[in-house]
Amino acid sequence: MSNEKGLLIVISGPSGVGKGTVIKEIIDDPDLALSYSVSMTTREKRAGEEEGVNYYYVSREQFEQTRDEGGLLEWTEFVGNYYGTPLAEVERIRKEGRNVLLEIEVEGCMQVKEKVPDALTIFIVPPSVKELENRIRGRRTEAEEIVQQRLAKATRELEMTGQYRYVVCNDDVKLAADIIRVIIRHHMEREF
Ligand code: 5GP
Repeated sequence: MSNEKGLLIVISGPSGVGKGTVIKEIIDDPDLALSYSVSMTTREKRAGEEEGVNYYYVSREQFEQTRDEGGLLEWTEFVGNYYGTPLAEVERIRKEGRNVLLEIEVEGCMQVKEKVPDALTIFIVPPSVKELENRIRGRRTEAEEIVQQRLAKATRELEMTGQYRYVVCNDDVKLAADIIRVIIRHHMEREF
């Protein structure tokens, strides 16, 4: 898969780091021409989430079928559920001539880098692990066991920041969003 028609941007970061909030700040910026690639997942829909907006919610069988038919750019199993990027989603955005934004975890990003070496990879880190724990607990959407699993996964993910081109600290949402804006603009100017 080539990267001719715009940027393929990957944003990763541990659970609770505020990726969603930072992405909300930049996604509608007309200068960035971003479209969010909606992933497929087998996890339960959280309160406030919407089909086709946050995720495409599918059964394990549906997910495995799409994956086995080669319909995913990347995929992973994260805390007991499958998550993946539908190729059709990425193609759709590229046809519109827009930059694709993927919000995926680290293993998925490694697969993207293999297929699209010039993908623009950004990792968001929390100001501290304690702060991350507070944010995950503050969300109050998961059982303690899941919180623990997400924290353990977060600690492992934080060791992988060296795999990313840029690391941005989300101490202040507006500042983190501004830094990411500058990074994307810089790469857009190089592309066009
Ligand atoms: P959550 O359940 O909190 O929505 O997402 C859990 C993790 O899965 C997050 O780190 C998120 O970035 C990641 N994720 C979401 N969609 C995808 C995807 O399509 N592929 C991969 N590899 N990870 C994803």
